[in-house]
Amino acid sequence: MSSYDVIFIGSGPGGYVGAIRAAQLGLKVACVEGRATLGGTCLNVGCIPSKALLHATHMLHEAEHNFAGMGLKAKAPTVDWKQMLTYKDETIAQNTGGIEFLFKKNKVDWIKGWATIPEAGKVKVGDDVHDAKHVVIATGSQAASLPGIEVDEKIVVTSTGALELGKIPKTMVVIGAGVIGLELGSVFARLGAEVNVIEYLDAITPGMDAEVARQFQKVLTKQGLKFTLGAAVQGVSVKGGKATVTFKLRKDDSEHEMTADTVLVATGRKPYTDGLGLADLGVELTERGQIKTNGSFATNVAGIYAIGDTITGPMLAHKAEDEGMAVAEILAGQHGHVNYGVIPGVIYTHPEVANVGETEESLKAAGRAYKVGKFPFMGNARAKANHAAEGFVKILADKETDRILGAHIIGPMAGDLIHEICVAMEFGAAAEDLARTCHAHPTYSEAVREAALACGDGAIHA
Ligand SMILES: Cc1cc2nc3c(=O)[nH]c(=O)nc-3n(C[C@H](O)[C@H](O)[C@H](O)COP(=O)(O)OP(=O)(O)OC[C@H]3O[C@@H](n4cnc5c(N)ncnc54)[C@H](O)[C@@H]3O)c2cc1C
Repeated sequence: MSSYDVIFIGSGPGGYVGAIRAAQLGLKVACVEGRATLGGTCLNVGCIPSKALLHATHMLHEAEHNFAGMGLKAKAPTVDWKQMLTYKDETIAQNTGGIEFLFKKNKVDWIKGWATIPEAGKVKVGDDVHDAKHVVIATGSQAASLPGIEVDEKIVVTSTGALELGKIPKTMVVIGAGVIGLELGSVFARLGAEVNVIEYLDAITPGMDAEVARQFQKVLTKQGLKFTLGAAVQGVSVKGGKATVTFKLRKDDSEHEMTADTVLVATGRKPYTDGLGLADLGVELTERGQIKTNGSFATNVAGIYAIGDTITGPMLAHKAEDEGMAVAEILAGQHGHVNYGVIPGVIYTHPEVANVGETEESLKAAGRAYKVGKFPFMGNARAKANHAAEGFVKILADKETDRILGAHIIGPMAGDLIHEICVAMEFGAAAEDLARTCHAHPTYSEAVREAALACGDGAIHA
């Protein structure tokens, strides 16, 4: 029907950002989306709705626990779950509508429907076949379950069902202590549910700096979440409106079960490439179903590229966005590039947890000499004033050169604070560079500076 320089398939953070950048660089661009609204998993059923519920329930927590002490006398709020879901839906609509506006502004055509790729250079949507010099697959991911678990999105739910529950459960079992399970688990714990988290490994948030993970588990336990670690889930059965999870403790193979109103299956996500016709095209996949790409996001089939959750690397919106921009630049003849060594990870609980770069464990495994600068938020005046003094900043720097290798923050606004360190790392900064930079007082960011000082002659307020 129409002819384009590039068609992006999927309008998540990878596809929509790539499409906008490609149009800004002068290419004729379309983006195909099968969902009724733009924005992908992230805006519709991921990052944005979960953050709306995290925010609302954090406000509830503040009112219940901290208002009275600050002289704010009010009756504890009651929860109107239906209204909270409306607030969440309005937040989604504002954001997805915003992408539609940006598409119009940048002259990106939104082709509505599900795409297949009949051959390189062609994209079929319904009965229409569009020509494209380049096709970028940005079709994202879907929740991955475990054998023996049937998801009905009512009693046994993925994150998508958890964001739409008809009522707040009294009891919830979360399978998987990763980011999504803990964020949503903490939402329902604050809403009054008894939340039990079952995790296969012996620690929560696999891959996170172990010291931070231990502190994080303590904080969540204080907030009422209960953890069963080292437990292999065998299956989930539903009876009489409740679900029973059976699991074996790995240490002694003993069998146990837990019954709850809702079971949230948060055992990770897998690439979603169904219906594209990749097998017929001969596009190579990894063993985990990810599309194999080279450093320029090109697949083994000329003219077909892939980005975001469909390829390797952390399944994060901002990683997908960066890849979208980079592939657009490459297709426009520029030198798009993503620095995978500086991709922050954030858990948006309260307190937040954020990390970038190396962990102590990865540095030890690589045999690298490093030093640690740590500073607790208890020494930060702003954090104390705001009842947010739980946690610490930890910076890892090269022992010889002082170059920053990684950072880990558990504490207030950790997800924002981490970016000062990301910028420093992009510029190859030493801890001393951060330590010598004047930071406004009183701000949480002073804790980052103090941790940098602790890499050298010592923090002032610890
Ligand atoms: C509950 C939850 C919370 C999350 N929170 C965060 C967070 O706070 N921060 C963060 O960084 N990441 C978060 N993520 C992960 C984040 O959502 C993903 O990493 C990100 O959305 C990936 O972007 P993407 O562009 O690769 O794909 P997606 O966002 O998955 O978008 C792909 C789009 O492609 C469309 N599509 C698929 N196949 C076709 C086809 N054949 N034709 C047309 N359209 C098609 C889909 O409908 C979808 O809209 C969260 C995920 C979940 C589930």
